[in-house]
Amino acid sequence: MYTDLKNRTAIITGGSKGIGTAISKRFGEEKMNVVVNYHSDEAGAQEAVAQIQQAGGKAIAVQADVGTEEGVQTLLDAAVQTFGGMDVWVNNAGMENQMPTHQLPLEDWKKVVEVNLTGVFLGTKTALNYFLSQEKKGNIINMSSVHEQIPWPTFAHYAASKGGVKLFSETTAMEYAARNIRINSIGPGAINTPINAQKFADPEKLETTRGMVPMKRIGEPSEVAAAAAWLASDESSYVTGITLFVDGGMTLYPAFQDGKG
Ligand code: NAD
Repeated sequence: MYTDLKNRTAIITGGSKGIGTAISKRFGEEKMNVVVNYHSDEAGAQEAVAQIQQAGGKAIAVQADVGTEEGVQTLLDAAVQTFGGMDVWVNNAGMENQMPTHQLPLEDWKKVVEVNLTGVFLGTKTALNYFLSQEKKGNIINMSSVHEQIPWPTFAHYAASKGGVKLFSETTAMEYAARNIRINSIGPGAINTPINAQKFADPEKLETTRGMVPMKRIGEPSEVAAAAAWLASDESSYVTGITLFVDGGMTLYPAFQDGKG
């Protein structure tokens, strides 16, 4: 628990399931006020709100498409109107689909880049303008991926979007460091969420993925949420521009295990 987080207000995009819901719940346990954004799954968002309230925090669910300027502005307005301000903005919403690059429809490319990268830009821009206008310190957390570093054939648009998030986060972290606005990324590895549900339902695919993780297990959303809580808190007050990998060692080149290579 991080006592400085109590009564601070966070916006979490894509909070209706998976990692976003886990961060919502964790922020509730930290007694924070949370704006839980959802795109289409209102029931999922209401469930996240209930979990936050049960844990001792305050919360509202707000519909918005993070790929639009109106969407992210709606989220900020809701935080200010309901909770009187905003301290932490978590750009978590994301999507992926598998397709060989030579067959990838332009529409799929545009959609993934719009949510995963443009959404991060728009959320960050809105948060920055708010922090600067209030002359207050700020905290932005971007959900990247191990695929900001590891190439992922047949997911080129996803990898490109997360590679973009890496340099966008690093660049903006440097740009606003002197204003006391910290911007960091989290790089999850293989986490047990709906985005992976189909894959992990297949025992062979689950085993293949486990084999790519030095710790030999799939991560839990709560383990990613723990990283978000630390980055949101003052305990990480001198940390900006990093990607905190939460991946069981996936980025450590596991193919070299046991002296191979
Ligand atoms: P998920 O599919 O369970 O949740 C993604 C959320 O994003 C959903 O709530 C969805 O509604 C929301 N979303 C999608 N488009 C949106 C839009 N236009 N506006 C608002 N919300 C939108 O996936 P997850 O596993 O919880 O992923 C969360 C983040 O973590 C994503 O950025 C993902 O790329 C990243 N990530 C996940 C893993 C993993 O193994 N699960 C690994 C690396 C990175």
